[in-house]
Parts: sequence; structure tokens; C-alpha cells
Amino acid sequence: MARSESPQATLTTESDPLAQALRETFGHGAFRTGQRRAAQAVLDGRDVVAVMPTGAGKSLCYQLPALLLEGTTVVISPLIALMKDQVDALRQRDVAAAAIHSGLTAGERQRAERDLAEGRLKLVYVAPERLASRRFQAGLERAHPCRLVVDEAHCISQWGHDFRPDYRRLGQLRRQLGVPAAAFTATATPEVREDIGRQLSLEEPLELVTGFARPNLTLAVEECPDRVSKARALDRIVREMGPPGIVYASTRKNVELWAAMLEQRGLKAASYHAGLDDGERRRVQEEFLGGELEAIAATNAFGMGIDKADIRFVVHADLPGSVEAYYQEAGRAGRDGLEGRCALLYSPVDIRTQEFFISGSNPDVETFHRVWAALGEGWDDSQIESAAGTAAADRMAAATAARLLRQAAAEERVPLGQGPPPVDLAAQRTKARRDSQRLRWMVDYADHRGCRTSFIYRYFAGSGGAGADGTGTSAEDAVEECGTCDVCRGWRFSGGREPTDEELLQVRIALSGVARLSGRFGMQKVVQMLTGSRARALLERGLDRLPTYGKLAALGQDGTKALLGVLIEAGLVQRRGIEGGRPGAFVLALSAAGREVMHGRDRPRLPLPERAAAGPRPAAAPDLRVPSSSAARNSLSEDPALGSVDAELFERLREWRGEEARRRSLPAYVVFHDSTLEQLAALQPRDEEQLLRVKGIGPAKVESYGEALLALLAESPEEGSESP
Ligand code: ADP
Ligand code: ZN
Repeated sequence: MARSESPQATLTTESDPLAQALRETFGHGAFRTGQRRAAQAVLDGRDVVAVMPTGAGKSLCYQLPALLLEGTTVVISPLIALMKDQVDALRQRDVAAAAIHSGLTAGERQRAERDLAEGRLKLVYVAPERLASRRFQAGLERAHPCRLVVDEAHCISQWGHDFRPDYRRLGQLRRQLGVPAAAFTATATPEVREDIGRQLSLEEPLELVTGFARPNLTLAVEECPDRVSKARALDRIVREMGPPGIVYASTRKNVELWAAMLEQRGLKAASYHAGLDDGERRRVQEEFLGGELEAIAATNAFGMGIDKADIRFVVHADLPGSVEAYYQEAGRAGRDGLEGRCALLYSPVDIRTQEFFISGSNPDVETFHRVWAALGEGWDDSQIESAAGTAAADRMAAATAARLLRQAAAEERVPLGQGPPPVDLAAQRTKARRDSQRLRWMVDYADHRGCRTSFIYRYFAGSGGAGADGTGTSAEDAVEECGTCDVCRGWRFSGGREPTDEELLQVRIALSGVARLSGRFGMQKVVQMLTGSRARALLERGLDRLPTYGKLAALGQDGTKALLGVLIEAGLVQRRGIEGGRPGAFVLALSAAGREVMHGRDRPRLPLPERAAAGPRPAAAPDLRVPSSSAARNSLSEDPALGSVDAELFERLREWRGEEARRRSLPAYVVFHDSTLEQLAALQPRDEEQLLRVKGIGPAKVESYGEALLALLAESPEEGSESP
């Protein structure tokens, strides 16, 4: 797994042809996460589906094995510009490669096809529309390729966000060639991955989801109720980050608006959308790549295949339609490894725009029937649109239906309007449902109060994130907290106000309570425990023996609940879904930022109600003296409700680590870092699964130390509590 991908493991190359090719042909010293596993699988002839974000280094995963294999590797890729770049780069490294697409002259194409036929090519890049030609397909087959690689493989799935009809031919190609196949994409949910596997008839493919940790990127969401606040936010980001950057918007009108605004601020900016002609679009793209333009305002038409490493910000001024689309666009920032900002300027009103697109691009069954009949009558598009009424979404849906029906009729050679509409209406309905579901996920992302990177990772990896069996995604790639998103950095509420000393004390008690019950209980139990409830469920689990039990009694249950709400809002406490739990059920856990505050190392601004207003009233619990402000920090940490148990547990963990290290003749930090022990003390995992959620603990650590650790943690005074 990822372990074998550490730099040390790749230093010895004598018996390691992949590593040798990596170094000698491409000049890289080490594999990136996931590359070796993917490349090895391709080399071994195993089918692969790999999800790696843009820039993670997908190309090498098939280029390296291609160098080592007998025969030609066929790569299907939808972007001519990208193919050209790849082929040029390979030729510079003396690798025999060619691309075959519509942009070649007749002479160039003949040469490429001859080289292919005569087995001279290590890699041939093919545009999917070339597969429409039977002659070309037969030529490919005769060349006896050794591997089939599909780039941007999500385009094959109707459930993906970027389905391309040309890709439908790949299933047949794969069956015809009968060689191992590898599918790569930057963006596929588990469902789309399964569809890719089905369409390409992959056999027990290695599934990899990797490379989502991008420590130089800051993912952020800023709530901006109106355009003025969006402009202000964009201004600030441009000031903080500097050019070059991209602003994505969902309509042409908005694109023009943001381009104008950027120009007004003195940036060399231009807009890019499907309404511009090809020449203009190419010019804008080239000027941006060449550095003459500093910023681009664009619809999602911009960016596929843009390889510009130094993009400092990607701002979404409107809500995108899916997390897939969002992450693919946002991920274009910071590919040079330097700092990059990915900000979503979020206004719930924008959901409407996306709903509009969804209904416009998903005609309902009735519309299909009506439009099919109208096409049979010989109506043209404008007649069909006006017959659909005055609502823009209805008109767009009618136009979409007309386009899909014409296309299907032509493909299946049925006369317009005769018989049933030649589209799979059930599949259309499913697609509409999935589009709506994807939008809901996107809204969830915007509303999310926990680490954003980990949200995105889980979205792509599937719930739980890690397949421990080695066929799934590797747990070491899982991101619990990235440390760099707005939530992890505690930026979420730069507003709010400083808590008073009393409030800070309550905050720390609440955090300490959450830490003790970490990841095991939901809001209600935490509130009951903090307010000293005598509820049976609480007493049975021994929660009344916790030092924080009843410490917030003075706030009452409502006040305590409101306080926890504030802490969630501020990203100090996270809500986590329960695996296998009912939808919407969640448990509370401490975030990294929350831990800092709990230990008194940070004093954040919080979205607390203004002091005069109602809400968590600053009333001290009766048994706590409220320290005066100057002495606050020191005396707080002496309160038995705060961290002392954690500190004691931490010491015991350190002692245990020392013994382990001596026993195994290892340096202590190799056994566990202090930061890992600190987390163990705060989170107090109860089983292997919870252990795996601790940063710095992977399957190998669990294997070596899991049992001993769990035994030690079970001795802790808080035992007796079970999972909810
Ligand atoms: P993707 O197709 O996933 O978007 P690419 O394959 O184009 O990404 O790779 C992105 C960049 O990363 C390229 O410039 C490539 O040379 C570089 N790269 C890939 N793998 C490595 C590696 N192991 N070490 C250093 N650089 C790498
Ligand atoms: Zn984060």
C-alpha cells in the first residue's frame, strides 16, 4: 500500500524497473501517492479504476508500464491539446508515441497509422470520436496492442457529470481488443466507478482513490448573501493571493460581470464561455496560459486540460452543480505546490440557478412524448420552444428533448415522430434524480461544518473512506482533518466576538466534555452529561463519573445546546455521520482547532450572541470560581474538568511508548509521534476502527500496537461508556 511508496522504498531501483523508468526516463526521484500501485497493477495486467485529482500524476501510472511492456498501449483521451502535449513530452524523452485525432493532416495521420500498424509505437493517443470508423477500429485491433487506457473515464458514465456519447463505443473496443484495461479519472463517485467497471467489462479491477491531500490548498466557503458581498470577498482574495486566478460563474451574464469587475480592479482579465467563437476562446486561453492575462472569468466550459501550474486562486462566484465539478475546477489552483486558495462564495439563492439547469437539461417523460410528436410534424426548434410556454426552464427542457431525440433518431435510423420516442425514458428519470442528488451534496459541502478536504475525500471514496482489504482505497490516504481548509484553520467566523473569561471557561468545559465522549455520542447525550442529567441511559454508561458531568448545569439544557451549536458553527466541534447509522444521525467530536482551545492554547472569536442578547448566558456553574481576566489562562488549566485526565492519560501513553520503543529498539517517535499520543488521549478510541481515524495511525500501526493501545485506553477512568 502507500507504505511502499515512501521515498526510501524507491531508492533501490536495481530490481525495480518501474522506479528505474521513473528516474531514468522521467527524472523523478519518487512515486507520488498511488502511482506505484496503479502502475504496478497496469504492468501486471490487472484491470484498474483510479480516481486521482487533477495534477496528482495519472499519466505516469500508464506511461511507465507502457515503456516496459511489449507492444503498444492505446490511450483514449478526449482532449486534442492535451494529447499533443503528452506526445511532445514523450518524444522529448525518446519514447515512441503518436496521437491520432481530427486535427492531423492526411499525411500526419497516415504516418501515425503506419507506425501503429508496424508496432513501432509504445503509446498511441486516440480521440474517442475516431472509434466511429470501423476501419480505424480494425486497424487498432490488427496492431495487437497490449493495454487499453481510458483517460477522463467518468465521461463513459451517464451518471457522471460529464457524459460523452463518443465514450459509449469504448465498451465494444475493450471487448474487441481483449487486453487489460485501466480507467483514470479525476472525479468519480463509487457509483460512477462501478458504472465505469460495468461499461468497460473490467474484471475485479484494482480500485484506487488517492491524492486528495493537497496541503498547499486552502478550501474555503464564504457565505455571501448578495453580489456586493461576493465582490468584497473576491476583492480580498485577489489582494491576499495575487494573480493568476480563475473566477467561475454559472451563467454567461455573470461571467461578463465578474470579468468587468476584475478589470475595474486593474487586473488584465477576460471572459470565457461557450457563447464566444472558437478563435476568441483559443486566444483567451493562450493569453492566460502565456501570462498576458492575469485572470479569467469563465463558465465551466473553461479548464478541461488547462495545465497552468501557478494559479493562485480559483473562486466560485456561483454554486456549481456537483462536488465533482467543484473539486475538479478548484483543484486547478496551486499545481506548482505553492499556496492556492479555492473559495466558494455561497449564497443559498444560487441553488435556484442550479435547479433551473437541472430541470432544463432533464426533460420529463411528457415533454419527450410531446416533442417527439412535434418533430414528427416537422416543427423546428423555435416552434418547439415557443410551444413549451413562457417559463425559461420549460423552454430549455423542450430544446434539450429535441436535441436528444434528433440525435437518437439519427443514430438508430428511425423516422422522426414514428413509434415511441427512441430514448430510454426510465434512464432519463434516473439521471434527473441523480443530478438533483448531486446538487444536494454540493449544498451539503457548502453547509458543512467539518474539514472540507475530508468531506471531499469521503465523497469520492465512499462512506467510511477506507477499504481495509487492499482492493479499495487505502486508509493512509484518508483525510480526517487537512489542517489547511477554512474550518481547520478556524477561519470560518472571522466575525463573531471574543468570549468573556466566563464564556471561555464554559467553552472549554463543553469542549472537554465533547472530547471525553468523542465520536461516540450525539448532541443529546453530551448536553445531558454536561448539565448533570439523571437520565438512566447516562447513568448506566457511567457518564456521571466524568469530571465534566454537570459542570454546565447553570446554563440549562437549552443554553448548553446553544453553546454547542456555536462551537459547531465555529468548527471547534464536528458533527460526524455514523457509519451504518440512520441518515442524519451524527456524533460529536473535537476538531484540531477545538483541541487547541480546550487546552487553553488558543482563544478564538466565536459567533456568540451579542452580550445583551439571550442565548448561552454567561452564568458560571455554581461550583466554579470565575477567575479574573489576567489570571484566567493559568488557573483555568488547573480546573479538574479541563484536560487533567487527558494530561494524565497522555503521560501514561508516553510511558507505554517508551517501553515499546525500548523493547523493539526503535526511537520513540517511530513508535508514535507526540501529536498522535495527544490525539489518542483526547479521542480515546475504543476499537480498531476508531483507532484508524486517528491521524498517524494506519493499518500497520494497528497491527503492531492496536491491541496494547486499546487495552491501555480501556483502563482509563471513563470506561463504561459504549457506543450509542
Ligand atoms: P494528472 O493527469 O493527474 O492531472 P499529470 O500526469 O499531468 O497529472 O501530472 C501532473 C504533473 O506532475 C506533471 O507535471 C508531472 O510531470 C508531475 N509528476 C507526476 N508524477 C510525478 C512524480 N512522481 N514526481 C514528480 N513529479 C511528478
Ligand atoms: Zn480541513
